[in-house]
Amino acid sequence: MNMLYAAPPRVDPWRRVGDWLFRHRRHIQLAQWTVVSLYLALLLVPLFLPLPDRTATVWNNLTRFAQLMFWGIWWPFVILGTALVGRMWCGLLCPEGALSEFASRHGRGGAIPKWIQWSGWPTAAFAITTIYGQMTSVYQYPKPAALILGGSTVAAMAVGYAYGRNKRVWCRYLCPVGGVFALMAKLAPLHFRSDPVLWRLSQERGDKPGAVDCAPLVPLRTMRGASDCHMCGRCSGFRSAISLARRSPNHEIIHVAGTVPKPAETILILAGLLGLAVGAFHWSASPWFVSAKQALGGFLIDIGWFAPLEQALPWWILTNYPGRNDVLTIADGALLLAYILASAIALGAILSLSVALSVRCLGQWDARRFHHMAQTLIPLAGAGLFLGLSAMTVTQLHSDGIVIPFVAELRAGFLLLATIWSAYLGWRVGALYTESPGRRMASMVGLSFAWGIAAGSWILFFWIW
Ligand code: SF4
Repeated sequence: MNMLYAAPPRVDPWRRVGDWLFRHRRHIQLAQWTVVSLYLALLLVPLFLPLPDRTATVWNNLTRFAQLMFWGIWWPFVILGTALVGRMWCGLLCPEGALSEFASRHGRGGAIPKWIQWSGWPTAAFAITTIYGQMTSVYQYPKPAALILGGSTVAAMAVGYAYGRNKRVWCRYLCPVGGVFALMAKLAPLHFRSDPVLWRLSQERGDKPGAVDCAPLVPLRTMRGASDCHMCGRCSGFRSAISLARRSPNHEIIHVAGTVPKPAETILILAGLLGLAVGAFHWSASPWFVSAKQALGGFLIDIGWFAPLEQALPWWILTNYPGRNDVLTIADGALLLAYILASAIALGAILSLSVALSVRCLGQWDARRFHHMAQTLIPLAGAGLFLGLSAMTVTQLHSDGIVIPFVAELRAGFLLLATIWSAYLGWRVGALYTESPGRRMASMVGLSFAWGIAAGSWILFFWIW
């Protein structure tokens, strides 16, 4: 007898990963509490130890080890990881998110007030913590690290306790790095896809699957991007319509990011990551900062006002470690603040002009297009942030005798790839708004100023200064 055999349908392996996350929530919680324990130990124990001396290394000194973990490994590689696998860090490992959700589970479950839902919080919180971190030398000393990270954790728990039930209101609306992660996740080649057709079919069948406990409050049915999703897997398989799936890393920026203009994200990209963050990395190496400091010093001496040159402030306002010969005076602090803010304003304005020029070249002025085109700079913005943060990793390891080979070549390659990626996205987004090749080319010329400035600021930092 001739038997016809139908092979079972192949299940996408990524779908299985999503389903695995769904089934293993307990294991995920165990991992989260392990990270919480490590996080608290690395944050708190160094507070009770003397500051590391010159012989201390990451291998024999917990404070140095904690510095490397927080600023050399965690921060840069979570940024990179988010661009590779979405916000899995947030959903599966982040100690702050886990603690906030825990507090929410046992809290008073209040309604989320309107002021918390203001879309500008992630951008504002990123700017404030970046500036404050520089003022207090958060990367070098345990006390400001405990104040900034610990303060953020306490606030996350308080918000969790006050609002929502089993939710992560803090992560969704207020986390200082949530805005950066939301941008980076747009580049991820993985996402939880919600299929509207399968969803409708499930409704028509009369499925009653219950509710999904989505902690960051993502609207599951209309979810189109990966920005808000924490990749926790709790919705995997819901209504047979949601699954972990591959996608093009260009997809979200080209096809989703332009549908709803997000001015707060535009500010975060142009003035935040490509402006303020650049100033925060630059100032300590900048010859312009040194010149400005000398000019300010000379001016204050000329007018006989010495106090700003001599007076320091408590460590929780401005770096103040006389034993380490590391003290910022009031004049230093004011200049630092001015340098970072001037970077944000100047770079943000020039980049905005460049993006505006490219949009105008595509046709009539349109604010929605402007916000969409700004999103094409996300690869460059993310690459710059990663390079700036990983410079600390390289320096910290180098001081302990670990030399990473070909660092300059790797940096140059990374920057070049990010520039090409941003250019490609600009080209594809331009095609959505005009069919004229001439207009698209002109738009690219407009955008090229932005690429030059974004890449140039890191060339200055790594190769010229
Ligand atoms: S949409 Fe919500 S429940 Fe689904 S994976 Fe993302 S964060 Fe988890």
